[in-house]
Amino acid sequence: MITAFVGLGVAGARKLAVGPAALLRQEPNVSPDPIERPEVELRRLDAALDAARRRLERTRQQIPLDTPAHIADFIDTHLLMLTDSALVDATRDLIREQHINAGWALKLQRDILVQVFDEMNDPYLSARRDDIEHVVRQIQLCLDCHDEPDSGDFILDQVKDCVIVADDLTPADAILLRQRGVAAFVTEHGGPMSHTAILARSLDIPAVMGVHRATAVLRQGEQLVVNAATGTVLATTEPETLDYFRRQLSSAESYRETLKQLLARPSTSRDGIPVVLLANLELPEDSAAAQANGASGVGLYRTEMLFLNHTRAPREDEHLANYLSILDALNGLPLTIRTLDLGVDKSIRYLSERLPPLINPALGLRAIRLCLKEPELFLPQLRAILRASAAGPVRLMIPMISTLNEVDSLLRLIQTTKRMLRREGLAFDPLMPIGGMIEVPAAALMAEALARRLDFLSIGTNDLIQYTLAIDRLDDSVSYLYEPLHPAILRLIQSIIEAAAKTRTRVSMCGEMAGDARYTRLLLGLGLREFSMQPGSLLEVKAIVRDSNVGALKRTMVELMPRIDDISSQHLLDRLAEAA
Ligand code: PEP
Ligand code: MG
Repeated sequence: MITAFVGLGVAGARKLAVGPAALLRQEPNVSPDPIERPEVELRRLDAALDAARRRLERTRQQIPLDTPAHIADFIDTHLLMLTDSALVDATRDLIREQHINAGWALKLQRDILVQVFDEMNDPYLSARRDDIEHVVRQIQLCLDCHDEPDSGDFILDQVKDCVIVADDLTPADAILLRQRGVAAFVTEHGGPMSHTAILARSLDIPAVMGVHRATAVLRQGEQLVVNAATGTVLATTEPETLDYFRRQLSSAESYRETLKQLLARPSTSRDGIPVVLLANLELPEDSAAAQANGASGVGLYRTEMLFLNHTRAPREDEHLANYLSILDALNGLPLTIRTLDLGVDKSIRYLSERLPPLINPALGLRAIRLCLKEPELFLPQLRAILRASAAGPVRLMIPMISTLNEVDSLLRLIQTTKRMLRREGLAFDPLMPIGGMIEVPAAALMAEALARRLDFLSIGTNDLIQYTLAIDRLDDSVSYLYEPLHPAILRLIQSIIEAAAKTRTRVSMCGEMAGDARYTRLLLGLGLREFSMQPGSLLEVKAIVRDSNVGALKRTMVELMPRIDDISSQHLLDRLAEAA
């Protein structure tokens, strides 16, 4: 029997794990029971704070040498919180004034602080509510073990090669668990901005978060298959299924090892054609993975995370700080910042409350349409992108263009913004490249006109496929129709690349197709020389590039494209494999 669960996948280079479930239950025992003597509770609180501090210090000492340096900072943040008066003194006051027990007082104070964090408008800071929750829970757990201070170490010993299933994990837990050789994490809580997600990516532990009721439904020791690329967890007892995934895992592992040798090698085909390999980033923290996998820059930084789940739009200084932190991490490599692309799967409460409901979100007021309509939302971002360009090689990229008017309006807006910044004495790069995403069939068919107005184009196949084939990319029931090798898609890609060549405009591809190694030869054969993808795919694609004869691939595509409607996908891929 196979049971499947879906959550939010958090994957570094490693995406798959197979292993027995190790359930980690860490719910502290907290209730509003009345107390007689506050002094006793104050002493219990002090002892628990002490035990929590010892535990964190022990974890800090145990951080493996090969762990990225910034990870120790997570532990330091928690150590500082243990002495923070907003948490500790305020909890003491609650115990004294309300005669409540220490665990309950911690809970009340945590609720107050979490509310303050929830109202913060910086997504990074507001995600730090997790830190408060983690620290408070550690102290509460230590309240129950004050006579044996070391029993505050809740991590099981027998977890090597296990899939940890927990309601939530602290950064400290993640570090200890990695050290004990766990295979993967499955958690009920936690989002992509949580420290634990950031850590899982940095530590290269595949994780699926937000799997509701995982600790209640999954059983200790049952075999799990975790796929962090798709966000799925399978619980199965079938030996054949497990064998199948173990084989997949072991070949993926040995292949990954051999790929590492490519890091220092150039991304050049066998016949000497250079190919630029760039990374897609969702969060500033992903720039570490981009560097570690040898990206030569960022071809797509999705900025939606800055806007999501908050009570107001981010301010210009918040945008700027975010972009500067990535530029800093990239150390001189180019950063392509895509302007806000909200509207379909990502929407924000402060907008949906103000704007009329979207009848069909995919065809409604999204991306550039929304930005031009809502200057209050967009201008701070535009100003910040321009200002960031003074600090490093920044490119601005516009999503979902469908008419030349949109591009002209945006270019005018950029000119006005530049004049404004000049008047204010704020620096920017006057030659900052401005590019557009080609992800609507209309834009693909007008690529030449767009290329004449813009400095670069980037093919967004995720949406281009959705709009060309009329398949909602979020709807499971039609996902079988989502076919990157559909002749119509290939013709559009070919014509975009040709339009770019004709106008001598740079063109890249940043949709998922660019990071799927099955299509690398095909795209090289169509003339693509710049690919942007999730960092974990970079080396795999580089291996294919280095193993390809681009001239031969080109000749094959020239021969096959005129009769592409009558050629099966498999035949096409086979012919390319032979030609390479
Ligand atoms: C795309 O549509 O291909 C793309 C890269 O943008 P997103 O997936 O963010 O819509
Ligand atoms: Mg898109």
